[in-house]
Amino acid sequence: MAPRVDFRQGSFDGLIDKHGYFLDHYHAIQCPCLDPSSGSPDPLCTRCTNGWQYYGKQEIQGIMSGFTSEKQFSEGGGFLLGSSTLTVKAEVEMAYHDRIVNRRSVINFSELVTKGDTTTDKTRFEIITPSLVLGKEGREYTLNTNYEIVDGKIHWVGTAPTEGDFYSIAYQTYPSWLVFSHLHLVRDTNIKFQQPAPVLNRLPIQVMCKLEYLWED
Ligand SMILES: [Zn+2]
Repeated sequence: MAPRVDFRQGSFDGLIDKHGYFLDHYHAIQCPCLDPSSGSPDPLCTRCTNGWQYYGKQEIQGIMSGFTSEKQFSEGGGFLLGSSTLTVKAEVEMAYHDRIVNRRSVINFSELVTKGDTTTDKTRFEIITPSLVLGKEGREYTLNTNYEIVDGKIHWVGTAPTEGDFYSIAYQTYPSWLVFSHLHLVRDTNIKFQQPAPVLNRLPIQVMCKLEYLWED
């Protein structure tokens, strides 16, 4: 029988310290606005994104690798393919649908926004830098004349689209991923290595993530 290869947590942790990206990790919790019979969130709920809330932000380090090529993007960062594997230290409590944000990278994103009944409109992701805001009939809205960016949201200060109308915005934001499975669940293992008693040792964990804007709930 071949000798068992024991994982050495210390060496994994060193690898993650050395090569890991600095990432923000948020825990996920289902929003109470979900309708249990349909499983759909209340479309008017302002507290969640597609029925999920995120809490408990903490900075972690993780190694992203093993991209699948189902969809390929050329945006910066070099690893923005549809899905990837994330390896983190054993102490990180990862769960399904958790959100991972890389605040040291940016991607371009665009979306349609409905002009709301207040001066502030929220986009799907936090706006770092707006590139273009287009209204009906090619009307272009100008930063600081028509709108400002406050806390990552659009804040209208001048002429704005009519309430209820659609407009589009292209902007830079931080790439974010959602955890969609566990490759390896958190495992505890007994390692006998010159120890008088078995030592409970937690191994690094790997999860699969998908870019949040490719996520289909
Ligand atoms: Zn909700």
